[in-house]
Amino acid sequence: MTSPIIMWFRRDLRLGDHPALTAACENGRPVIPVFIFDELVDGLGAAPKFRFGLSVGDLARELSSRGSRLVLRKGRAIDVLTDLIRETGATEVHWSRAYDPDAKDRDTTIKAALKEAGISAVSHPGHVLFEPWTVETKTGGFYRVFTPMWKSVRNTEVSACLPEPDLIPAPNAWPDSDDLTLLNMSKDMRRGAEIVHQHCVVGQTAAADRLSEFIETRIARYSDDRDFPGVKATSGLSENLTYGEISPRQCWHAGWEAFRQGHDQAEVFLKELVWREFAYHLVFHTPHIVSRNWREEWDRFPWNTDEAHPHVVAWKQGRTGIPFVDAAMREMYVTGVMHNRSRMIVASYLTKNLMSHWKIGERWFADCLIDWDPASNAMGWQWAAGSGPDAAPYFRVFNPVTQLDKFDRDGVYQKSWIAEGYGQPSDTALSYFDAVPKHWRLSPANTYPSPLVTPEAGRARALEAYATREKVK
Ligand code: FAD
Repeated sequence: MTSPIIMWFRRDLRLGDHPALTAACENGRPVIPVFIFDELVDGLGAAPKFRFGLSVGDLARELSSRGSRLVLRKGRAIDVLTDLIRETGATEVHWSRAYDPDAKDRDTTIKAALKEAGISAVSHPGHVLFEPWTVETKTGGFYRVFTPMWKSVRNTEVSACLPEPDLIPAPNAWPDSDDLTLLNMSKDMRRGAEIVHQHCVVGQTAAADRLSEFIETRIARYSDDRDFPGVKATSGLSENLTYGEISPRQCWHAGWEAFRQGHDQAEVFLKELVWREFAYHLVFHTPHIVSRNWREEWDRFPWNTDEAHPHVVAWKQGRTGIPFVDAAMREMYVTGVMHNRSRMIVASYLTKNLMSHWKIGERWFADCLIDWDPASNAMGWQWAAGSGPDAAPYFRVFNPVTQLDKFDRDGVYQKSWIAEGYGQPSDTALSYFDAVPKHWRLSPANTYPSPLVTPEAGRARALEAYATREKVK
């Protein structure tokens, strides 16, 4: 009897355009799809772990409808794989490559251990368009600045998407599986998981529909409208890309097709996909981007690192008294996502106006975002704080008041998320109060707070601290 192959699913929860799955199914041997609730999944923040669970459930259904199954196991990945190999007689394990330091370390150790045990462990591309070691500057080395990287990859031939395998051969007997509900991946949600759930678009079919709808209805005006948080103008695909429910290659080819059909603004969408690539290249080549200031001279900057500081708490709870910031923080709490411009505004306000460490914000996002991505989140925060590669210079402090005037002219976004002071608040603004924990003691009947720190005062203080830091360099 031919030995089975284990297909270890991680952030690649789809069946189409899946190089690892295609390779596993290629020679007709039985394939055992597995998802492991390991230490890295368990260590995720509340919202991404909850959303991961939804995605795992969707993949399990997709596999069942094709005569296959998703075997779920909890434990250290190497222990689970070793058990499964012993139980099934599998001789090969396939997976899609990961690039962030924790996952990379885990995979390197597992690959070596499996090899030692005579098992073939094969990693495949699929999570990024361009493997980080394949894109180099003219003088060698990786790109530290986005625009030259964009120019260098823009016209690169990207291979065609792979079709879903015709058949995922099933083994004669299936190994035992844990029950997804017992893994309880929503257990850390301190907010109403059911409220966030209403905003989730889960699974490969929904992701493909989302991409098609975006291409048909919005890509033509993407560049004009993408900066306005009150307008539904972007793709929303970050939620699906992060769990691999859709591949970046599927998005890339769809974007190019729209561009070829005469939608010039599709180019900006392609460029955004390359920002994601840039983040992955940085995390691969400079893994400290996820844990320390990318530019170490920032280690001397006097950030507030006290997570319990009242300003930080007010920022997290969306009651800084700055409507753009509060609207955005509430949007994230309720929907699990936040518009890109809003992310830049709240990150700038926390790190510059409130002079609090970007790591505080990065951790809060990692707890609240259903599209949390280890590379893009770290890059986004370090960009906003000024400590990262190709970062916004520290002296560029967004003014959240003028930004709101410019990007939310009709007040649609503000009204969507702020209830206080409105005679008839919107449903979304009210849903925030249902989502937050009771002990926050928030009510739509409260008076909207005055600014904790005005944009002008915060800016002046930040620039002074920056100037002092410059002197001690
Ligand atoms: P679209 O505008 O439709 O763009 C298409 C795709 O391009 C996105 O889905 C995303 O994969 C990629 N993309 C777009 N903008 C960026 C960007 N600036 N950086 C990297 N990739 C980008 N993105 C995440 O996916 N996860 C995060 O945890 C995350 N944290 C962020 C934190 C901060 C402080 C900042 C400033 C940005 C962060 N971003 C993050 C990037 C960006 O805000 C989101 O990717 C974007 O808002 C997703 O919306 P969309 O899918 O509608 O994007």
